[in-house]
Amino acid sequence: MASRCVFRCFRTIERWMDKFTGAAGPVFVTFAAVALSAGVVCFFEVIQPDLRWPLVTIPLNALVACNMLVHYYLSCTVPPGFIDEPAQESGEGLIWARKRKRKVRLPNVVGNGHAHGDDEVNVTPAHISRCKRCNQLRPERAHHCRVCNRCVLKYDHHCPVRINQCVGLYNERHFVLFLIYIVIATGFFAFAGYDKFWDSMGFTYTEWKYYTPVFAFSLFYILSGVMCLAVGIMMSYHVWQVCMGETSVDSHDHRVYREVAKERGGTFENSYDLGKLKNLEIFFNVGQDGYPLYTLILPLRVLPYTDGRSWPRKPGFSRHIGVELGEELTDDDDEE
Ligand SMILES: [Zn+2]
Ligand SMILES: [Zn+2]
Repeated sequence: MASRCVFRCFRTIERWMDKFTGAAGPVFVTFAAVALSAGVVCFFEVIQPDLRWPLVTIPLNALVACNMLVHYYLSCTVPPGFIDEPAQESGEGLIWARKRKRKVRLPNVVGNGHAHGDDEVNVTPAHISRCKRCNQLRPERAHHCRVCNRCVLKYDHHCPVRINQCVGLYNERHFVLFLIYIVIATGFFAFAGYDKFWDSMGFTYTEWKYYTPVFAFSLFYILSGVMCLAVGIMMSYHVWQVCMGETSVDSHDHRVYREVAKERGGTFENSYDLGKLKNLEIFFNVGQDGYPLYTLILPLRVLPYTDGRSWPRKPGFSRHIGVELGEELTDDDDEE
Protein backbone atom coordinates (compact mmCIF):
# COMPACT_ATOMS: atom_id res chain seq x y z
CA MET A 1 0.00 0.00 0.00
CA ALA A 2 2.76 2.44 0.95
CA SER A 3 4.64 1.69 -2.24
CA ARG A 4 1.52 2.27 -4.30
CA CYS A 5 1.10 5.63 -2.57
CA VAL A 6 4.71 6.57 -3.37
CA PHE A 7 4.20 5.55 -6.99
CA ARG A 8 1.04 7.59 -7.26
CA CYS A 9 2.73 10.58 -5.70
CA PHE A 10 5.67 10.28 -8.06
CA ARG A 11 3.33 9.92 -10.98
CA THR A 12 1.56 13.16 -10.10
CA ILE A 13 4.87 15.02 -9.83
CA GLU A 14 5.97 13.53 -13.14
CA ARG A 15 2.77 14.60 -14.90
CA TRP A 16 3.07 18.09 -13.49
CA MET A 17 6.70 18.30 -14.59
CA ASP A 18 5.74 17.05 -18.06
CA LYS A 19 3.21 19.83 -18.45
CA PHE A 20 5.45 22.49 -16.98
CA THR A 21 8.40 21.70 -19.23
CA GLY A 22 6.53 21.01 -22.47
CA ALA A 23 8.01 23.90 -24.42
CA ALA A 24 11.56 23.21 -23.29
CA GLY A 25 11.49 19.58 -24.57
CA PRO A 26 14.25 19.73 -27.20
CA VAL A 27 16.55 21.58 -24.81
CA PHE A 28 16.07 18.88 -22.19
CA VAL A 29 16.71 16.09 -24.69
CA THR A 30 19.91 17.73 -25.92
CA PHE A 31 21.01 18.27 -22.34
CA ALA A 32 20.21 14.67 -21.40
CA ALA A 33 22.04 13.25 -24.44
CA VAL A 34 25.16 15.35 -23.70
CA ALA A 35 25.05 14.52 -19.99
CA LEU A 36 24.67 10.76 -20.61
CA SER A 37 27.56 10.68 -23.09
CA ALA A 38 29.78 12.82 -20.87
CA GLY A 39 28.95 10.57 -17.91
CA VAL A 40 30.04 7.51 -19.90
CA VAL A 41 33.35 9.17 -20.92
CA CYS A 42 33.93 10.25 -17.34
CA PHE A 43 33.31 6.70 -16.06
CA PHE A 44 35.75 5.11 -18.51
CA GLU A 45 38.43 7.74 -17.86
CA VAL A 46 38.28 7.95 -14.08
CA ILE A 47 36.63 4.86 -12.61
CA GLN A 48 37.18 1.99 -15.05
CA PRO A 49 41.06 1.94 -14.99
CA ASP A 50 41.08 1.10 -11.27
CA LEU A 51 38.47 -1.66 -11.44
CA ARG A 52 39.54 -5.25 -10.93
CA TRP A 53 39.19 -7.95 -13.61
CA PRO A 54 39.39 -5.52 -16.56
CA LEU A 55 38.84 -8.30 -19.09
CA VAL A 56 35.40 -8.84 -17.63
CA THR A 57 34.44 -5.38 -16.45
CA ILE A 58 35.44 -3.42 -19.58
CA PRO A 59 33.19 -5.37 -22.00
CA LEU A 60 30.39 -5.58 -19.45
CA ASN A 61 30.42 -1.87 -18.65
CA ALA A 62 30.72 -0.99 -22.33
CA LEU A 63 27.67 -3.16 -23.03
CA VAL A 64 25.61 -1.43 -20.33
CA ALA A 65 26.68 2.01 -21.62
CA CYS A 66 25.82 1.03 -25.20
CA ASN A 67 22.42 -0.29 -24.20
CA MET A 68 21.65 2.87 -22.25
CA LEU A 69 22.64 5.21 -25.11
CA VAL A 70 21.08 3.19 -27.95
CA HIS A 71 17.77 2.63 -26.14
CA TYR A 72 17.69 6.30 -25.27
CA TYR A 73 18.27 7.19 -28.90
CA LEU A 74 15.58 4.73 -30.05
CA SER A 75 12.98 5.88 -27.52
CA CYS A 76 13.49 9.46 -28.78
CA THR A 77 13.53 8.66 -32.50
CA VAL A 78 11.24 5.65 -33.12
CA PRO A 79 7.74 7.07 -33.71
CA PRO A 80 5.34 5.81 -31.00
CA GLY A 81 2.80 4.62 -33.61
CA PHE A 82 0.22 7.20 -34.69
CA ILE A 83 -3.06 5.63 -35.79
CA ASP A 84 -2.98 7.24 -39.25
CA GLU A 85 0.48 5.86 -40.10
CA PRO A 86 1.17 2.46 -41.69
CA ALA A 87 2.46 -0.32 -39.42
CA GLN A 88 6.23 -0.23 -38.92
CA GLU A 89 8.16 -3.07 -40.47
CA SER A 90 11.49 -4.65 -39.74
CA GLY A 91 14.49 -3.20 -41.58
CA GLU A 92 17.80 -4.60 -42.75
CA GLY A 93 20.48 -2.60 -40.93
CA LEU A 94 22.71 -3.83 -38.10
CA ILE A 95 20.50 -2.17 -35.50
CA TRP A 96 17.63 -4.57 -36.26
CA ALA A 97 17.30 -7.75 -34.24
CA ARG A 98 16.46 -10.95 -36.12
CA LYS A 99 13.34 -12.86 -35.17
CA ARG A 100 13.46 -16.43 -34.00
CA LYS A 101 13.21 -18.97 -36.77
CA ARG A 102 9.75 -20.51 -36.61
CA LYS A 103 9.65 -24.12 -35.69
CA VAL A 104 7.40 -26.16 -37.95
CA ARG A 105 4.42 -27.17 -35.87
CA LEU A 106 1.29 -29.08 -36.64
CA PRO A 107 -1.69 -26.78 -36.99
CA ASN A 108 -3.33 -26.22 -33.66
CA VAL A 109 -6.95 -27.15 -34.20
CA VAL A 110 -8.16 -26.75 -30.63
CA GLY A 111 -6.49 -23.45 -29.76
CA ASN A 112 -8.16 -20.24 -30.74
CA GLY A 113 -5.01 -18.11 -30.91
CA HIS A 114 -5.08 -17.21 -34.56
CA ALA A 115 -2.71 -14.30 -34.99
CA HIS A 116 1.08 -14.36 -34.82
CA GLY A 117 1.14 -18.14 -34.74
CA ASP A 118 1.65 -18.28 -30.98
CA ASP A 119 -0.46 -21.27 -30.02
CA GLU A 120 -0.68 -20.42 -26.36
CA VAL A 121 -2.03 -16.91 -26.76
CA ASN A 122 -5.57 -15.91 -27.57
CA VAL A 123 -5.29 -12.82 -29.79
CA THR A 124 -8.54 -10.96 -30.46
CA PRO A 125 -9.23 -7.93 -32.66
CA ALA A 126 -9.39 -4.62 -30.80
CA HIS A 127 -12.69 -2.79 -30.30
CA ILE A 128 -12.93 0.33 -32.43
CA SER A 129 -14.13 3.74 -31.33
CA ARG A 130 -13.96 7.27 -32.71
CA CYS A 131 -11.75 9.94 -31.18
CA LYS A 132 -13.74 13.04 -30.26
CA ARG A 133 -10.75 15.28 -30.82
CA CYS A 134 -9.26 14.19 -34.14
CA ASN A 135 -12.39 12.36 -35.33
CA GLN A 136 -10.42 9.28 -36.43
CA LEU A 137 -11.42 5.67 -35.87
CA ARG A 138 -9.03 4.03 -33.45
CA PRO A 139 -8.53 0.64 -31.83
CA GLU A 140 -8.83 0.22 -28.06
CA ARG A 141 -5.75 1.29 -26.07
CA ALA A 142 -5.10 4.09 -28.57
CA HIS A 143 -5.51 7.49 -26.95
CA HIS A 144 -5.33 11.07 -28.06
CA CYS A 145 -2.14 12.90 -27.10
CA ARG A 146 -2.88 16.55 -26.45
CA VAL A 147 0.72 17.60 -27.08
CA CYS A 148 1.12 15.75 -30.41
CA ASN A 149 -2.57 16.35 -31.19
CA ARG A 150 -2.90 12.87 -32.67
CA CYS A 151 -4.04 9.46 -31.52
CA VAL A 152 -1.28 7.06 -30.52
CA LEU A 153 -1.50 3.24 -30.50
CA LYS A 154 -1.13 1.72 -27.04
CA TYR A 155 -0.63 5.20 -25.65
CA ASP A 156 1.24 5.28 -22.36
CA HIS A 157 2.17 8.92 -21.76
CA HIS A 158 3.74 11.91 -23.45
CA CYS A 159 7.19 12.54 -22.11
CA PRO A 160 8.57 16.00 -22.98
CA VAL A 161 11.35 16.00 -20.40
CA ARG A 162 13.30 12.91 -21.28
CA ILE A 163 12.42 11.92 -24.83
CA ASN A 164 10.24 14.77 -26.12
CA GLN A 165 7.60 12.50 -27.63
CA CYS A 166 4.90 10.01 -26.77
CA VAL A 167 5.61 6.61 -25.32
CA GLY A 168 3.42 4.21 -27.31
CA LEU A 169 3.32 0.84 -29.02
CA TYR A 170 6.57 1.06 -30.99
CA ASN A 171 8.92 2.74 -28.53
CA GLU A 172 7.66 1.56 -25.13
CA ARG A 173 10.04 -1.39 -25.10
CA HIS A 174 13.03 0.87 -25.77
CA PHE A 175 11.78 3.34 -23.18
CA VAL A 176 11.53 0.71 -20.43
CA LEU A 177 14.89 -0.83 -21.38
CA PHE A 178 16.43 2.64 -21.30
CA LEU A 179 15.07 3.14 -17.77
CA ILE A 180 16.44 -0.24 -16.68
CA TYR A 181 19.90 0.39 -18.14
CA ILE A 182 20.20 3.93 -16.83
CA VAL A 183 19.41 2.64 -13.33
CA ILE A 184 22.09 -0.06 -13.66
CA ALA A 185 24.62 2.42 -15.10
CA THR A 186 24.09 5.21 -12.56
CA GLY A 187 23.91 2.70 -9.71
CA PHE A 188 27.26 1.20 -10.69
CA PHE A 189 28.77 4.66 -11.18
CA ALA A 190 27.75 5.59 -7.65
CA PHE A 191 28.97 2.26 -6.24
CA ALA A 192 32.32 2.02 -8.03
CA GLY A 193 33.15 5.72 -8.02
CA TYR A 194 32.92 6.11 -4.26
CA ASP A 195 36.71 6.43 -3.63
CA LYS A 196 37.16 8.81 -6.54
CA PHE A 197 34.35 10.94 -5.21
CA TRP A 198 36.21 11.42 -1.91
CA ASP A 199 39.34 12.29 -3.91
CA SER A 200 37.39 14.77 -6.03
CA MET A 201 36.00 16.46 -2.93
CA GLY A 202 39.56 16.96 -1.67
CA PHE A 203 39.12 14.79 1.45
CA THR A 204 42.04 12.51 0.67
CA TYR A 205 44.63 15.02 -0.57
CA THR A 206 45.23 12.88 -3.66
CA GLU A 207 46.35 14.67 -6.79
CA TRP A 208 43.60 14.74 -9.48
CA LYS A 209 45.36 13.47 -12.62
CA TYR A 210 42.45 13.05 -15.05
CA TYR A 211 41.22 15.06 -18.04
CA THR A 212 37.73 15.16 -16.52
CA PRO A 213 37.63 18.36 -14.42
CA VAL A 214 37.42 17.57 -10.75
CA PHE A 215 34.19 19.54 -10.21
CA ALA A 216 32.59 17.77 -13.19
CA PHE A 217 33.33 14.41 -11.61
CA SER A 218 31.81 15.43 -8.28
CA LEU A 219 28.75 16.69 -10.10
CA PHE A 220 28.37 13.50 -12.16
CA TYR A 221 28.77 11.40 -9.05
CA ILE A 222 26.03 13.22 -7.17
CA LEU A 223 23.79 13.22 -10.26
CA SER A 224 24.31 9.47 -10.65
CA GLY A 225 23.17 8.81 -7.11
CA VAL A 226 20.09 11.02 -7.45
CA MET A 227 19.18 9.61 -10.88
CA CYS A 228 19.59 6.04 -9.71
CA LEU A 229 17.04 6.63 -6.94
CA ALA A 230 14.57 8.79 -8.87
CA VAL A 231 14.62 6.80 -12.12
CA GLY A 232 14.73 3.60 -10.05
CA ILE A 233 11.32 4.39 -8.55
CA MET A 234 9.93 5.26 -11.98
CA MET A 235 11.42 2.17 -13.57
CA SER A 236 9.89 -0.07 -10.89
CA TYR A 237 6.55 1.58 -11.54
CA HIS A 238 6.74 0.94 -15.27
CA VAL A 239 8.01 -2.64 -14.93
CA TRP A 240 5.24 -3.34 -12.42
CA GLN A 241 2.66 -2.09 -14.90
CA VAL A 242 4.15 -4.31 -17.61
CA CYS A 243 3.88 -7.28 -15.22
CA MET A 244 0.20 -6.43 -14.68
CA GLY A 245 -0.41 -6.20 -18.45
CA GLU A 246 -1.29 -2.50 -18.26
CA THR A 247 -0.15 0.80 -19.74
CA SER A 248 -0.19 3.93 -17.57
CA VAL A 249 -3.61 4.83 -18.99
CA ASP A 250 -4.92 1.26 -18.45
CA SER A 251 -3.64 1.33 -14.91
CA HIS A 252 -5.62 4.50 -14.17
CA ASP A 253 -8.76 3.26 -15.96
CA HIS A 254 -8.69 -0.17 -14.38
CA ARG A 255 -8.50 1.36 -10.92
CA VAL A 256 -11.78 3.16 -11.70
CA TYR A 257 -13.35 0.01 -13.19
CA ARG A 258 -12.37 -1.97 -10.12
CA GLU A 259 -14.25 0.47 -7.90
CA VAL A 260 -17.29 0.52 -10.19
CA ALA A 261 -17.40 -3.28 -10.30
CA LYS A 262 -17.01 -3.45 -6.53
CA GLU A 263 -19.96 -1.12 -5.97
CA ARG A 264 -22.04 -3.47 -8.08
CA GLY A 265 -20.81 -6.41 -6.05
CA GLY A 266 -18.78 -7.86 -8.91
CA THR A 267 -15.09 -7.95 -9.69
CA PHE A 268 -13.15 -6.39 -12.51
CA GLU A 269 -10.85 -8.61 -14.51
CA ASN A 270 -8.23 -7.22 -16.88
CA SER A 271 -8.39 -9.39 -20.00
CA TYR A 272 -4.87 -8.30 -21.10
CA ASP A 273 -3.35 -9.86 -17.99
CA LEU A 274 -1.91 -13.26 -18.96
CA GLY A 275 0.16 -13.68 -15.83
CA LYS A 276 3.32 -11.75 -14.92
CA LEU A 277 5.83 -13.82 -16.85
CA LYS A 278 3.75 -14.01 -20.01
CA ASN A 279 3.01 -10.27 -19.83
CA LEU A 280 6.74 -9.54 -19.63
CA GLU A 281 7.44 -11.97 -22.46
CA ILE A 282 4.86 -10.31 -24.68
CA PHE A 283 5.92 -6.76 -23.80
CA PHE A 284 9.58 -7.46 -24.62
CA ASN A 285 8.46 -9.68 -27.50
CA VAL A 286 10.71 -12.59 -26.57
CA GLY A 287 8.03 -15.28 -26.79
CA GLN A 288 8.14 -18.32 -29.04
CA ASP A 289 7.34 -16.30 -32.17
CA GLY A 290 9.19 -13.19 -31.11
CA TYR A 291 12.85 -12.41 -30.73
CA PRO A 292 15.58 -14.37 -28.95
CA LEU A 293 16.27 -13.54 -25.27
CA TYR A 294 19.65 -11.98 -26.09
CA THR A 295 17.79 -8.99 -27.55
CA LEU A 296 17.31 -7.91 -23.93
CA ILE A 297 21.05 -7.43 -23.43
CA LEU A 298 22.12 -6.24 -26.88
CA PRO A 299 21.28 -2.72 -28.05
CA LEU A 300 18.99 -3.72 -30.93
CA ARG A 301 15.75 -2.47 -32.39
CA VAL A 302 12.81 -4.80 -31.93
CA LEU A 303 9.23 -4.63 -33.19
CA PRO A 304 6.26 -5.11 -30.83
CA TYR A 305 4.23 -8.29 -30.56
CA THR A 306 1.15 -6.79 -32.20
CA ASP A 307 0.32 -4.03 -34.68
CA GLY A 308 -1.84 -2.37 -32.03
CA ARG A 309 -5.08 -3.45 -33.70
CA SER A 310 -5.45 -6.76 -31.90
CA TRP A 311 -4.58 -7.74 -28.35
CA PRO A 312 -3.54 -10.92 -26.62
CA ARG A 313 -6.11 -11.79 -23.97
CA LYS A 314 -6.83 -14.39 -21.36
CA PRO A 315 -8.20 -17.57 -22.94
CA GLY A 316 -11.93 -17.23 -23.57
CA PHE A 317 -12.00 -13.45 -23.09
CA SER A 318 -12.89 -10.95 -25.80
CA ARG A 319 -13.07 -7.97 -23.43
CA HIS A 320 -12.59 -7.07 -19.76
CA ILE A 321 -14.98 -8.49 -17.19
CA GLY A 322 -16.76 -6.17 -14.77
CA VAL A 323 -17.04 -3.13 -17.00
CA GLU A 324 -19.97 -2.91 -19.35
CA LEU A 325 -20.11 -1.58 -22.91
CA GLY A 326 -20.51 2.18 -22.86
CA GLU A 327 -19.04 2.42 -19.36
CA GLU A 328 -15.46 2.59 -20.54
CA LEU A 329 -13.60 5.77 -19.79
CA THR A 330 -12.78 8.06 -22.70
CA ASP A 331 -9.85 10.44 -22.99
CA ASP A 332 -12.00 13.28 -21.66
CA ASP A 333 -12.45 11.44 -18.38
CA ASP A 334 -8.72 10.86 -18.08
CA GLU A 335 -7.75 14.46 -17.92
CA GLU A 336 -8.25 15.49 -14.40
ZN1 LIG B 1 -7.45 11.57 -31.50
ZN1 LIG C 1 2.47 13.02 -27.57
